Amino acid sequence: MSSILAKIGLTASATSFGFSQCRSSIASHQSLVRFFHSSQFWYGDNAANNAKNRERYANDPEYRNRMLQKQREWTRERRAKDTDFVANRRQSNLRWIAKKRPAHIQNYINDPEYRKSQKHNRRNSEAVVQRADLKRKANINNSYQKNALLHWILKATWQCRLFWETHEPLISEEPDGTPGICSSCNGVSTQRLWWRRKKVDEKSAEKMGDESSKQVLDCHNCFCDMDWEKALPLGYRGHVFGSGKRLREPD
Ligand SMILES: [Zn+2]
Repeated sequence: MSSILAKIGLTASATSFGFSQCRSSIASHQSLVRFFHSSQFWYGDNAANNAKNRERYANDPEYRNRMLQKQREWTRERRAKDTDFVANRRQSNLRWIAKKRPAHIQNYINDPEYRKSQKHNRRNSEAVVQRADLKRKANINNSYQKNALLHWILKATWQCRLFWETHEPLISEEPDGTPGICSSCNGVSTQRLWWRRKKVDEKSAEKMGDESSKQVLDCHNCFCDMDWEKALPLGYRGHVFGSGKRLREPD
């Protein structure tokens, strides 16, 4: 019997049998047999149970909500008890993202299917869309102006005659945009409009090599955040979108 216990990772000690015997009227050998069978069941079918639970989680909304509610309660309790819980969790998430990031970038740039799945996930999040809408309407972080500039550049047929001091616009020929990596926020995304830097500082050029330094891109958001005045083309600085003043084509 002791070898069987060793197999399931338990040690048969006199005190543990004694404890079982004291707590119930079942004879010690019956208790042990019952315990062994229940342990064997649990260990042997653990993987099968997990798979079953995963399937149920995916297909049974009531079960899923119950599990999510339990998780939320657990998190709430941990937060209240452990002051470092939030910071530790954030650190752990950041480590996980950093570990996965190189593969994510490679897949995103080179695999259209992977890109599609990422886009689908983001579009599905209604909360993200609603938050962006509210931000735009309230012009939080200049988002209304940035969005208006983006659409104006994409719509203007004469945009190729405009001139920016620090960057030049690259408009994607693909209707859904072109994937790229922003040098400022380091984010990888698909954009209809990328901004190519006209000048690259020496340090970056050295790091990237001659060819790569010709294609230092910024996403529209980062480009606008660098200097909003310079985000507007020369001759159009100071313009406020939505003020009723129409932007006229250059002579
Ligand atoms: Zn960016």
